[in-house]
Amino acid sequence: MIDVETIREQFERHYGIHPRLIVRGPGRVNLIGEHTDYNDGFVFPAAIDRATYVAARPRDDALVHIVAVDMHDEDEFALDAPIEHSADHPWSNYIRGVVKGLLVAGHTLGGANLLITSDVPRGSGLSSSAALEVATGYAFQLLNRLNILGEELALLAQGAENTFVGVQCGIMDQFISALGRSDHALLLDCRDLSYRPVPLPANAQIVVCDSHTERRLSGSAYNQRREECEAAVRLFKRWYPKISALRDVSVAQLREHEADLPEPVRARARHVITENDRAQRSAAALEAGDIATFGRLMNESHASLRDDYEVSIPAMDALVAAAQAVPGCYGSRMTGAGFGGCTVSLVETGAIERFKHDVAAAFRQATGRDTTIYVCRASDGVGRALPE
Ligand code: ADP
Ligand code: MG
Repeated sequence: MIDVETIREQFERHYGIHPRLIVRGPGRVNLIGEHTDYNDGFVFPAAIDRATYVAARPRDDALVHIVAVDMHDEDEFALDAPIEHSADHPWSNYIRGVVKGLLVAGHTLGGANLLITSDVPRGSGLSSSAALEVATGYAFQLLNRLNILGEELALLAQGAENTFVGVQCGIMDQFISALGRSDHALLLDCRDLSYRPVPLPANAQIVVCDSHTERRLSGSAYNQRREECEAAVRLFKRWYPKISALRDVSVAQLREHEADLPEPVRARARHVITENDRAQRSAAALEAGDIATFGRLMNESHASLRDDYEVSIPAMDALVAAAQAVPGCYGSRMTGAGFGGCTVSLVETGAIERFKHDVAAAFRQATGRDTTIYVCRASDGVGRALPE
């Protein structure tokens, strides 16, 4: 964990004066609802107690200077000239994109000195990118006394990643980083951004295991899956002309027409439609205090991602199997787009130490690799960082 005092000292060392404010934007994990976002469906993420911190102080010129502690790098750009993409400092584009988005939206911004540091692992699937964007946007909002609502901030951050950085992510990561709630997950409807906070069980923890596998194939396979979902919608329209996304097809409707669909579209549609149903049922199960059902739905989600959506890899399957075998683990699944990255499990608090030990050993046995395990607490969305 990073403490506020350390960040304050780092800022003073670089800029010779203390920061005006320090903002924290959390990373996130999606508990269930995978590959449902671009099908207008439901996702069920929680913000976690790992975050990106932006310390800031206004300047009296129109420059933005950034010290990126974790990248051992610095960058600077002007607010009164067109903000360009930076090839030399790729990390800076997340900040440049957010600032440009604020300017395009008509906000007036003053220059600032920033210092950025994070304990969200980068590129592991816990969304260090959204944490950085949301924290940056919030810091500029405070410095310039803007009044941007959480949903607007999330859309601005997503826009920066889509158009400035060039990654076609959905809205989930930025939304949960902006609007997460401590000890809750949010059931988010990706169609209209309505959401419902659902309390997480008091006697269980969210555990993330990083497989440290490179997500190499993910780009092309992701685009292919999106096309297959569009093909499925075109086919379902023959029977249900009013639908516009797979989210509009119920499990009963799927069952009725499943046999008429060609492969692989049939299997892809089956994953999305049942996953969307699982996401909603899992939220209801937690609300009813039924953790066992929630865990079973997580396990079913993994099987569906592996067999029907075909986005898992043997290392992820091994990590999930290792978790599911531990007594006190309610359920486990791969999380994120797939082809590597992290798994998420729900584990009884009393079983955490055994879980860490057994999963590390079984994963090593199966793959020869080490996993990094993060026991997470659901945290609040972006806000001012407070001293411990
Ligand atoms: P993920 O969001 O899953 O962690 P991404 O590839 O989407 O992975 O985003 C990681 C990128 O975001 C990094 O390569 C870097 O450019 C930027 N980034 C994330 N955290 C930081 C940080 N603390 N400082 C500077 N840049 C960061
Ligand atoms: Mg990202």
